[in-house]
Amino acid sequence: MARAAERTASAGLGGLVVSPGPDLVYLTGYEAPPLERLTALLIRPGTDPVLLVPELEHPRAEASPAGGRIHVESWPDAGDPYPVVRELLGGPDAPVGVSDRLWASHLLGLQRELSHASFVPASAVLAPLRMRKDDGELGLLAGAAEAADEALRRLTSEVLEGRREEDVAAALAMHLTGAGHDTAAFTIVGSGPNGASPHHHAGEREIRDGDCVVLDFGGSLGGYFSDLTRTVAVGAPSDHIREVHGIVHRAQAAAFQAVAPGVAAQEVDRAARSVIEQAGYGPDFIHRTGHGIGLEEHEPPYIVEGNATPLQVGNTFSIEPGIYLAGRFGVRIEDIVVVTETGARSLNQAPRELVSVA
Ligand code: ZN
Ligand code: ZN
Ligand code: ZN
Repeated sequence: MARAAERTASAGLGGLVVSPGPDLVYLTGYEAPPLERLTALLIRPGTDPVLLVPELEHPRAEASPAGGRIHVESWPDAGDPYPVVRELLGGPDAPVGVSDRLWASHLLGLQRELSHASFVPASAVLAPLRMRKDDGELGLLAGAAEAADEALRRLTSEVLEGRREEDVAAALAMHLTGAGHDTAAFTIVGSGPNGASPHHHAGEREIRDGDCVVLDFGGSLGGYFSDLTRTVAVGAPSDHIREVHGIVHRAQAAAFQAVAPGVAAQEVDRAARSVIEQAGYGPDFIHRTGHGIGLEEHEPPYIVEGNATPLQVGNTFSIEPGIYLAGRFGVRIEDIVVVTETGARSLNQAPRELVSVA
């Protein structure tokens, strides 16, 4: 919070309004419900932060990790919280930073009350802090990644042929928690032509011999996420599946090799993309190479053309190139990596070669 306040001041902002969600958890450890009743941590340069909560949640806030460390103020249930925010922030004319996840209804209330202030995303201040993971955070991310690897190991020792995607997705969710996650967050199972849709929602299609199956899944551990993708062949893969998988595998390795402190995020995207382009599949790689990961499944830094932000030690993100052939199949390989002094370390160790399952 001290660093956030320093950055708020140096960015010329009058304050930060941090709403329930990952920003609030990061700064205070308080997991508050995002509701129509306003809860907000107010970061005020030059003075102490204050946590403003609905009166009925005062006990909950005091019992949280924020209690005793941060002054908690409450507003009455029949009252209006927005004038309270104006008073607590000192009615700034300077721009105010608001969490990306602040509800529009709350922002509209703040805009009405702080009519002279402009509003900017608080991520301008908070993303650079959240992007550099400390050892505790890296430990949780590594534990989550290890549990994802184990979930994959358990799933691929089962028979997939003859099962519906949604049944395999349910099994994956069970393995995610069984292998050590607190909760399963998402389970993409894209078999055959469904694999060509990167965010396919697992459905009723029955997995068949010869299918290529994209498995992309993750869960959270201590609030931090895993996100792993492997594409497996059911039975013997066709030559075409082998070829495309080999290209994606090389693209994923090239991107990993490109990671080092000081390298622009977009260079990692270029490294993966150039392998796929040179193999003639450029138009079939229809998304960025990766996304940051931490308290959110997707967060900065984004590994995408146009992002010239230099990577820093402690950044964690996915490397997940893919090739998607509409009506046929898709292939994606994804690991979570951390930037180290000398390059990168993969938090996932699951085999990246094409694996054939029953
Ligand atoms: Zn995705
Ligand atoms: Zn994923
Ligand atoms: Zn991902």
